Amino acid sequence: MKPEALLHSRPEGLYCPPGNFFIDPVRPVERALITHAHADHARAGHAAVLATRETLDIMRLRYGGDFTKSKQVAELGERIDLGGVAVSFHPAGHVLGSAQIAVEAKGLRIVASGDYKRHPDATCTPFEPVTCDVFITEATFGLPVFVHPDPESEARRLAESLRQFPERAHIVGAYSLGKAQRLISLMRSVGHDAPILIHGALAKISRYYQGRGIKLGKLEPATVEGIAGTRGAGQIIVAPPSVLGDRWTRRFADPLSVFASGWMRIRQRARQRGVELPLILSDHGDWNELTRTIRETGASEVWVTHGREEAIVRWCAINGIAARPLHLVGYEDEAE
Ligand SMILES: [Zn+2]
Repeated sequence: MKPEALLHSRPEGLYCPPGNFFIDPVRPVERALITHAHADHARAGHAAVLATRETLDIMRLRYGGDFTKSKQVAELGERIDLGGVAVSFHPAGHVLGSAQIAVEAKGLRIVASGDYKRHPDATCTPFEPVTCDVFITEATFGLPVFVHPDPESEARRLAESLRQFPERAHIVGAYSLGKAQRLISLMRSVGHDAPILIHGALAKISRYYQGRGIKLGKLEPATVEGIAGTRGAGQIIVAPPSVLGDRWTRRFADPLSVFASGWMRIRQRARQRGVELPLILSDHGDWNELTRTIRETGASEVWVTHGREEAIVRWCAINGIAARPLHLVGYEDEAE
């Protein structure tokens, strides 16, 4: 069987003809297998959805109970038969509930990894490499210049800034699913025990993380209570990246703008957004994680979905691995 007969790209997304399902489709389809709950991968309106419990729960929180007609939970490692195709979900280490999807038929196994990372993250199950013939990888940070620093050292930089500027409110822009909770968890791990204020857009998902046993410490709503001018002074306020530089931040004491993103490696991006304290914290693999992972899967062929495909494709060629870009559209990575 040729790999393309098992999985190939269509305008809706990655399609498996023998199993008649799509992986992370960007348009409504009959049956969708979803790697994780980020909005560009998990859309509402499919007739049937197969995903991990956490991904289904987060989709319900975001889209409401009627986001699909039929839901099925995929347990990690469990083999599910779909039209003679064996499908299984494996941890991706990206956000809570994130999974790679292995698709297998007639002795051929393809793994669609969705988004993934290998750096430590206490808020989700660590990535597990799955041996396969074809590995489908993202390439958000697929350039050798991207090497992410140790996450705790970035958290310590924020703690240090709080000590240095106790009169200023530290507004941290962080993607509301995954990054925000990881940042909070990291601050706890470096000894920041004070209550952390969170923007309303983060409340439901953060509460859900806590309900799944992820320790985030004391969280309080970032409301307008308190005396104007000293509100939030010396405190961490976590909010979606879109509020940085927005009027919303002006309710707090001399706001200091912090952004937690892999893109903060690029100083110009930090400057453009008026970020005073850029924290390099990513939920996507850096160059070393991507290339190490490709090796560990033992794949003889690599398909690259979104990001900087060229350098990864070239690296594969040099290392004797057949590789090509898939040119899937509809996936974004700006805020992550
Ligand atoms: Zn994602």
